[in-house]
Amino acid sequence: MAEVLKKRYESLEGKMLLLGMAARFDACGPCAEGMSLKHLPVYPAKTPGGVMPVLKVLFTNACSHDCAYCTNRWRLNVPRVSFQPAELALLTAGLYRRGVVKGLFLSSAVHSNPTRTMERMIETAWLLRKRWNFTGYIHLKILPGAHVSLVDAAVRYADRVSINLECPDEEGLRRIAPAKSHAYMFQVMRRLARLIGERQGGGGSLVYATGQTTQVMVGATYARDVEYIKMAYRLYRELGLKRVYYSPFRRVVEDACLPREQPDLPVRVRRLYQADSLIRHYGFRPEELFSGVKENLPLSIDPKTWWALRNPDFFPVELSRAGKEELLRVPGIGPATASKLLSHRNFIRNAEDLKCVGVDLKRAGPFSTWKGKPLASRESVTGGTPARKNKPYQGELFSFL
Ligand code: SF4
Repeated sequence: MAEVLKKRYESLEGKMLLLGMAARFDACGPCAEGMSLKHLPVYPAKTPGGVMPVLKVLFTNACSHDCAYCTNRWRLNVPRVSFQPAELALLTAGLYRRGVVKGLFLSSAVHSNPTRTMERMIETAWLLRKRWNFTGYIHLKILPGAHVSLVDAAVRYADRVSINLECPDEEGLRRIAPAKSHAYMFQVMRRLARLIGERQGGGGSLVYATGQTTQVMVGATYARDVEYIKMAYRLYRELGLKRVYYSPFRRVVEDACLPREQPDLPVRVRRLYQADSLIRHYGFRPEELFSGVKENLPLSIDPKTWWALRNPDFFPVELSRAGKEELLRVPGIGPATASKLLSHRNFIRNAEDLKCVGVDLKRAGPFSTWKGKPLASRESVTGGTPARKNKPYQGELFSFL
């Protein structure tokens, strides 16, 4: 049986299937999950140029590490395959020319030596740019333990370079991924931030790289929501990250150090994304979202409405006079709506007009007035946007075997 599988996956088609499935749960954009194009691992990814289809694969699934949550860990008996740089570059360039993809998202397991594996990934990007004149999008993942100087080479050929932080707590990381360390990851991120900053300042030798992102698993350790949001806040402010992606953890590998299944995880992840948006776009600080209360966000209500209910002195906000900062504290008013409201204020006469500029009256009404008149009673407060269903989990990688 093992021989049959080995043969099957050694063909290019087999590698594509196996390494495409294995890369499925690495986030490359808000709509990255669950949409492959027939038998090709092609997914829509959010890039600086908009949402576009990208080929999303691992370079290899042969790993010398033993992360407790991962179906690629060395101790598991699964078929192992690797691309050759020239093979993957040719394949990507071909798909690009046929208009099937507009980019490549390349991650990898750590095949014996992280520096060597990383070099081969960079070689793939180099071949694409230099031999195939590839002008599409490239996102490269930095492998844990690869020599930090390789970051400089990666940003020379990739539009986006990133490293996964996995979880916000060092102790949790040691338990589930003993070969990884936050100290190393932050070293990589600082170096990336410096290189990207140099480019934005008009210096440096970068042609492509425009920003970095990271991904954390939610529920793989016992870290609380406050730790995720504080970590994200630090990454946005100190290192200028574009996005932190939160992926729900599911226990697909049996290991005593892993937490049990958590049925509420999709809702928790949704609440974390909402809190993340509040610290990125609305001017909230983590201490405000968690002050004086538990360390996890409530599941039944969105974090902004929750904050509003705990700060009754701030409300009601008079929408005809409030400044942008104040408007952004009102549930149901986002940055775009606040800007529209400010620029159209002189033409707004009533609640209907407020709706026209995008105010969600159901949510904003209980916390605001228009020309002194309440827009709704506080009793009508709702929990806000419900959680999305069917978010992907990490690790369902070999369920087809
Ligand atoms: S998470 Fe990455 S490094 Fe860890 S076992 Fe899986 S593939 Fe290897």
